[in-house]
Amino acid sequence: MTEHAPGREDAAALPGAAPANTWRAVAPPRSRRGPRRCVRCRQPAVVELPGQRTAFCPPCYLHHVRQKVARTMAEGHMLRRGERAVVAVSGGKDSLCLWDVLATAAEADATDEAPPLLEAPPAGVYLDLGIGEYSARSRETVERFAEARGLPLHVVAVAEELGAGIPEAARSGARSACGVCGLSKRHLLNRFALAEGYDVVLTGHNLDDEAAVLLGNVLQWDLEQLRRQRPVLEGRPGLVRRAKPLVRTTEWETAAYCVVAGIDYVVEECPMAEGNRHLVYKDLLARLEDRAPGIRSAFHRGFLRRLQPLLEDQLGEQSLAGLQPCARCGAPTTGEVCAFCRVAERLAARREAGDGAEPLSAGAGPRPPAGPPPSRTG
Ligand code: SF4
Ligand SMILES: [Zn+2]
Ligand SMILES: [Zn+2]
Repeated sequence: MTEHAPGREDAAALPGAAPANTWRAVAPPRSRRGPRRCVRCRQPAVVELPGQRTAFCPPCYLHHVRQKVARTMAEGHMLRRGERAVVAVSGGKDSLCLWDVLATAAEADATDEAPPLLEAPPAGVYLDLGIGEYSARSRETVERFAEARGLPLHVVAVAEELGAGIPEAARSGARSACGVCGLSKRHLLNRFALAEGYDVVLTGHNLDDEAAVLLGNVLQWDLEQLRRQRPVLEGRPGLVRRAKPLVRTTEWETAAYCVVAGIDYVVEECPMAEGNRHLVYKDLLARLEDRAPGIRSAFHRGFLRRLQPLLEDQLGEQSLAGLQPCARCGAPTTGEVCAFCRVAERLAARREAGDGAEPLSAGAGPRPPAGPPPSRTG
């Protein structure tokens, strides 16, 4: 089965299809020897993972993804017993898959005799980026998900914290839309987690995202970004730990998880992503993966095992040495004023000068040659 992100369109394409977002949407074609069997229980498989030469029935597929995420978290020491975690949710397949996996793990922990890793299902935090209809739909989707499962949800509006939503902030000229969006996500998620006493922020970056970022960083030999490209960024004074539990899970797998679990997610891409070079890297890697299943994972895994530790040894100390509190907000930064406060000040100055109040249409912000990854969860 060719890997692509299964979604509502797949379900609609099936003759006599079940309602959108059901597991039938990912049923693989039958081989000459009949349908493939689930490797775990021998029932007919509906999800086949060519890169991993394996196939699952619906319940076993959910179990497979949950186990993979649990292993990734345990091996990366992402969450320690008794810690409070918050999941950054965007309404997309990755973050909702992650939130569902963690909420399910917390429920299982509660019925287990072992002391729970998660004492309660984790809260979610949604950053409202102020990107018109797209943000409105994303927020509704996240709120529906949280309400249906009784999960606590916090909402932080970028416009309230920065002085403008992402399109207008991009118009101020300081950075591309994705540039200002990425730094706002990092800054605001950290500020929120610190204020609310969370120990770790978990984000939905998947393997496709991480491999594409890696390719971009390698092509530019950006050693500092390569050094920082780890599944866990440990906390230190003023910075809450950040971790990526889906770092070994592909985009296709998270989409399939949502379809199988009946999770409604926002399928459309952010309108501001157009033209971002990250998408080109992602597409290149997807084509390589089609020819050589498993290559994307090998590329990323090899980097984490072989090169990243060397970069950490060489550059880690020197990077930490340059940090000081921002003169405006106190967040650790290398300059006198952090990038977030600089953008906020620039926006305030434009407002005072009577400029920049007019909102932008999606995608119209200035862009540098290569933007950061257009991820939903920062
Ligand atoms: S594509 Fe992603 S990073 Fe860029 S503006 Fe949209 S949500 Fe933000
Ligand atoms: Zn099975
Ligand atoms: Zn600041």
